[in-house]
Amino acid sequence: MSKTALITGAAQGIGKAIALNMARKGFQLAIADLPQQKDKAEEVLKEIQAIRPNNKPPIFLPVDVSNQKSVFDVVDESAAHFGAFDVMVNNAGIATVSKVLEATPEELERVMRINVGGVLYGTQAAARKLVELNRGGDFTPSTVKTAKHKLTGKIINCCSITGNEAFASLPLYSSSKFAVKGLTQASAKELAPLGITVNAYAPGIVLTPMWDLIDTKLAEITGLPLGENLKRQIDGIALKRGETAEDVSGLVAFLAGEESNYITGQNISVDGGISYN
Ligand code: NAD
Repeated sequence: MSKTALITGAAQGIGKAIALNMARKGFQLAIADLPQQKDKAEEVLKEIQAIRPNNKPPIFLPVDVSNQKSVFDVVDESAAHFGAFDVMVNNAGIATVSKVLEATPEELERVMRINVGGVLYGTQAAARKLVELNRGGDFTPSTVKTAKHKLTGKIINCCSITGNEAFASLPLYSSSKFAVKGLTQASAKELAPLGITVNAYAPGIVLTPMWDLIDTKLAEITGLPLGENLKRQIDGIALKRGETAEDVSGLVAFLAGEESNYITGQNISVDGGISYN
């Protein structure tokens, strides 16, 4: 029986590439993104269906990951649609570019609510659903005490190389990704007794609309021409090319599959050789 996965922020960029890769690996998929991304998400659904015409049709679920109820609702809807729930990919995130001395409370609030809140709520909703469907129980302290280490499901969070070493002019974004790493570690420890693994992927310089935005803002801050900040970042990559969303997707499909069953609490870099742990 095909496993099911819900991926947030999957209408474009890294989330879309993850969805298509996981479709090729046989997963049944729910694509969650902001309501205004509906048209793009429907194109992704068509591509998934072309890859897996015999699977139950994929669905688009509008969500705002910074809203806890919205995230719980889409997890319920995905489980109801497929009659199962196995993997949650908390991929949605935003970038914010500003120098430490100029960062505003509004920027802080927004990036933390989306990048950290989205991962927290996705973890909470997925853990409850995995226990309810795959362990036949409510999510209560006694479930945690009595559960055996049989695998229940997987939660996969989007971190970043900036979650290991912060970038100048990305202090809030980097802080949000440090928080994702912390949440991943704490969740892995708390949820292991329930048979849930929790890991994160840390992409490098991925050529998606997010980096278009970062490069534009960095040009304003550094005074360098458009594209130059991105070029300098790419010059620092050992493999000497910008990362594609597809480069990220293989790692996430691996973390979602059976071959990673004994990995938990890790933040794994996929960056072409920028950071070395
Ligand atoms: P992107 O901007 O192309 O895509 C992000 C997606 O998330 C969009 O579809 C957007 O609509 C969705 N999204 C944003 N806010 C949302 C919200 N509140 N609720 C639901 N969906 C929301 O960016 P991307 O490069 O594909 O980034 C995806 C993830 O990868 C992010 O978490 C990002 O921080 C991370 N990341 C990106 C890079 C990079 O270089 N692009 C590097 C490291 C990590």
